[in-house]
Amino acid sequence: MAWWASTPDVAIAELGSNVSLGLTSAAAAARRAADGPNELVEAATKPAWQLFLGQFASTMIIVLLGAGLVTALIGDLTDAAVIAAVVVLNALIGFGQEHRAERAMVALRRMTQPLARVVRDGVVRTVRAADIVRGDILHLDAGDLVAADARLIDAPNLQVNEAALTGESVPVEKTAGVLAPGEGQLVADRGNMVFRGTAIAYGRGRAVVTATGMHTALGEIAGLLQSHAAPPTPLQRQLAVLGKWIAIGAVATCAIVFVIGVARGEPIELMFFTALSLAVAAIPESLPAVVTVSLALGAHRMAKHHVLIRKLSAVETLGSVTVVASDKTGTLTQGRMSVERLWTVAGTLRVSGDGYEPSGAIECADGAVDLHGMSVLDDLVLAAALCNDASLVPPARPGAAWDISGDTTEGALLAFAGRAGLDHAAATLRHPRIAELAFDSSLKRMITVHDAPDGRPLVAAKGALEAVLPIVTQIADREGVRPITPADLDLVRAAAEADSAAGYRVLAVAGGRLASTKADPLALLGSVERDLVLYGLVALADPPRAESADAVTAARSAGITPIMVTGDHPATARAIATRLGILTPGRAVMTGAELASEGPEHLARHVGDVAVYARTTPEQKLDIVAAWQARGAVVAMTGDGVNDAPALRKADIGVAMGISGTEVSKEAADMVLANDNFATIIGAVREGRRIYDNIKRSVRFGLTVGSGEIWLIFLAPFVGLPLPLLPIQILWVNLVTHGLPGVALAVEPAEPDVMRHRPRPRDEAILSGGLWQHILVDGLLLGAVCLGIGLWGYMSDRPWQTMVFTSLALLQLGNALALRSNRQSVFGLGLRRNPFLLVVLAGTLVLQLILIYWPPAQRLLSTEALSLPDLAVVLVASTALFWVVEIQKLVGRRSSRAGSSVLSTRSMDGI
Ligand code: ADP
Ligand code: MG
Repeated sequence: MAWWASTPDVAIAELGSNVSLGLTSAAAAARRAADGPNELVEAATKPAWQLFLGQFASTMIIVLLGAGLVTALIGDLTDAAVIAAVVVLNALIGFGQEHRAERAMVALRRMTQPLARVVRDGVVRTVRAADIVRGDILHLDAGDLVAADARLIDAPNLQVNEAALTGESVPVEKTAGVLAPGEGQLVADRGNMVFRGTAIAYGRGRAVVTATGMHTALGEIAGLLQSHAAPPTPLQRQLAVLGKWIAIGAVATCAIVFVIGVARGEPIELMFFTALSLAVAAIPESLPAVVTVSLALGAHRMAKHHVLIRKLSAVETLGSVTVVASDKTGTLTQGRMSVERLWTVAGTLRVSGDGYEPSGAIECADGAVDLHGMSVLDDLVLAAALCNDASLVPPARPGAAWDISGDTTEGALLAFAGRAGLDHAAATLRHPRIAELAFDSSLKRMITVHDAPDGRPLVAAKGALEAVLPIVTQIADREGVRPITPADLDLVRAAAEADSAAGYRVLAVAGGRLASTKADPLALLGSVERDLVLYGLVALADPPRAESADAVTAARSAGITPIMVTGDHPATARAIATRLGILTPGRAVMTGAELASEGPEHLARHVGDVAVYARTTPEQKLDIVAAWQARGAVVAMTGDGVNDAPALRKADIGVAMGISGTEVSKEAADMVLANDNFATIIGAVREGRRIYDNIKRSVRFGLTVGSGEIWLIFLAPFVGLPLPLLPIQILWVNLVTHGLPGVALAVEPAEPDVMRHRPRPRDEAILSGGLWQHILVDGLLLGAVCLGIGLWGYMSDRPWQTMVFTSLALLQLGNALALRSNRQSVFGLGLRRNPFLLVVLAGTLVLQLILIYWPPAQRLLSTEALSLPDLAVVLVASTALFWVVEIQKLVGRRSSRAGSSVLSTRSMDGI
């Protein structure tokens, strides 16, 4: 059906809907059941069995399986069965991890699904875009992503960015008119329709949904989407490369072990299996998986703390963030506004009241003229209420508070109008809106035009004082309207400055009447941006969030520079930033005007000294991000509006607001704050650091184990020992100690001092900071202790192989325990912080004991029972690695205190 060629009414009737009532919930549910969800079908994700089989795709495992088969053919069925069991168990562990990661990612995607507003049962509701059906009446606002294809019903000044569909990056104008027959052959020509995947750039409109899901224009061109498999994060890439190199090294070493063993007269078959098992143990094939699992589970956990991760790489980048650039309004402040003061040239008033409740009192400031009954007050109140897209929501139940829907600044103005005695509903009935110039954060003002009973349209305007002054020529005073004088300008500027400096958000309110009657609304708009009357100023209080100041302090002590970027007045920004500790002595406030006039070089030079940017346009956020990035900073930048999208993309971590943010900004962001709260960002940084620390821990643990096993087998001949471990024992140690303690380390809580260190350099190699040396040396120690025990047992005719086997397993448990912290002593940490690890360690210990004392297990793994004294010696010796790691940390703490890599005082601003 060519919806563009029929009127909206026909389209709505055809689709069985109603302009004002929308669909009923029942009808919508029935259509959703019939048509399916409004989603583009994805190429199927891997089913579980494929994920499981994928675990066997590693070369080493295939070789091992082949070897098992050979063993079976030779006739050694027990050995073959054990090898098979170990391989399958290994695969199960890997599968379990990947499956968990996959599920966590799916759950994350579900949390960040786009939303849309539709009319259902006569009320506007926010629903998941997936639940939209044909016939739904869509409400569209600047910053919305269009959720389905729809025929416009009305569209005052609507502009849509259709880049996603047509590639055209300049927004196109849309109208609700009917296209002539024959027109609209191309999607790009259908000017009275909006399409799924495009974004509302300006204005607003209503539209009736004509197609959903795969039937939309986007669905038809996109066909099957690629599945959402995210590209590998830098860390995943790094570890994949690292893993390859280590594998090559391990294989080479194992080849040497094989040659030496055969040269010494060990059976070739045994040596082949030994070398093979050793390679399997030492090759860190699970490294990239460790990262994926840690990142995905970390992201999942962050969701519980109001952080929705949209790109997995953000979890990693968070740990390197050096600059957090935040909006002021609603992020650092509560965003629950209320008008507290009112200024007119005739006098000032104090406003009081509770939250958004539209009742309260308006009182005379001390000694001032009483404005009650003067037309200036009435005009101001009417303009503030008419030039407004918000609405007040009465308490849902008795005793609850009033709330608003829409912009908080505008909601506060409605509550204020109520306090001044205006009946908003009656006023909008009397003065229906006929045209508008929507608020735009670059222009910083909004103008609406309304019908009036006498036929002369009424204009209402509000915005930043600098944005309103150019369009006023008159001012409302006690006696009425008169031309505005330079003295008036001085007065109003001083008043705005004073209220701003007190931390208020100040808005100028203006208005007027148009002479022309019944003109075309679009023509009207050409004449409203001049000759208006300035009524006065309103000052809105927006107190800082209680937790913001602490979060700023935390950021600073973590070596992160907090900066504020706001569209608000510099004096307001300065007041709030000082209160929060963002603006400290020696750092500056820069305005958007300065930024524009001085140019990018000036910014590049001074960006490190500026703590607050005020009266900026969203476009300037991009310059600020770029200037910091040019200095090597890793920038997290918040944004909520449609124009913030480019800066959110450019920032290393774009942070969108879950509550007040537009869908466009969320789409562009790496991370969404479900509670719009600045402190949440700092919490996310902390979590990012924890996750990275834990990944590093798991990597160190896994590689030390491999290195230790290689050292052990490699060095044994040199001290005159026969082959110290049997292949099956190597595989077993690899399985139990590699698998579970590694996973348990990944859930270790953050170290207490995690936020007292500088951010990690973004491109830091995972093995830097002494890690690879530790891996070699700790591995050598592990091997040496095992060799020592083995040698002693061998000489004194004890079951030396079982002793080596047991020591190897237990040494690693001690290592896992000590590695719980990179810096702190485990004794300081306490054991209760990670109960999972304790369970795993205890369980592994018990298993090991079963292996050496339970006859069937003894037969399988060729172990012998140890006498109690022997076991005691092994137990004591096996704590060696634990102590060594603890001592390493102690030395590290000493030297870092001396060299002060831990942050102390001021040096933290800048990077
Ligand atoms: P921020 O969100 O950083 O505080 P905004 O871009 O929302 O800044 O607002 C910048 C300025 O625009 C405000 O200081 C105010 O003067 C003006 N302003 C804000 N909201 C509105 C609105 N809804 N209508 C008119 N003017 C507004
Ligand atoms: Mg704002």
